[in-house]
Amino acid sequence: MRHITTHDAPAMGLRGIADTSWHTRAACHGMDVEDADAVFFPGPRGHEEIAEAKELCGWCPVRRECLDFALENVLKEGIWGGLTAAERRPLHNNLHQRLDYRRVTAFFAGRDVHLTEAERQVAIDHAYVRGWRPDRLAAALQISHKHARDLLRQAANKVFDRDRTYGVPRPKKKRKKNTPAAGSPAPATQQPVARPAASTPAPALLGKAA
Ligand code: SF4
Repeated sequence: MRHITTHDAPAMGLRGIADTSWHTRAACHGMDVEDADAVFFPGPRGHEEIAEAKELCGWCPVRRECLDFALENVLKEGIWGGLTAAERRPLHNNLHQRLDYRRVTAFFAGRDVHLTEAERQVAIDHAYVRGWRPDRLAAALQISHKHARDLLRQAANKVFDRDRTYGVPRPKKKRKKNTPAAGSPAPATQQPVARPAASTPAPALLGKAA
């Protein structure tokens, strides 16, 4: 198969980068600020507070959004999405490797979702095989035109190398036909050009003419 494939189903349940509307649906929404601080930012021995927070998060309808928000904004302290700071640490450390194709699909649907390094690279590769121009990629990723052009070139090289490795035949290029413009004279048929016969040099005279 030549092209990387994905599905075009609309991405559901993905929080936009600047979207905080999920806060109002949270189980902890409306809590007293001091209580919330004590429960969600417990001390090292705050086992009761941790248990209380986990119980609340357990039935929270926006638990996933809350966890993503903490990961994408590098919030390493406190309890988010029902996970303590220690439980989230591996997720924080490996976030750049997250490859969620729903996010790539959402990117192509024009959503402003957060992309990890791995997801961004897949999006760039897809943009290349979809024939995106640098200005379009630049606008989508909010980068310079030059940067977008370089990224598309890298993607082109990657696809070329991959195809060569797997023996995928290159698509044949269509040859342009040289059709004469309307009204222009038909091109002259190529006739062999007769070269003038080389003049035979006169033999050098030996001695004076008589
Ligand atoms: S998952 Fe927990 S911390 Fe996050 S919004 Fe819900 S109740 Fe609050």
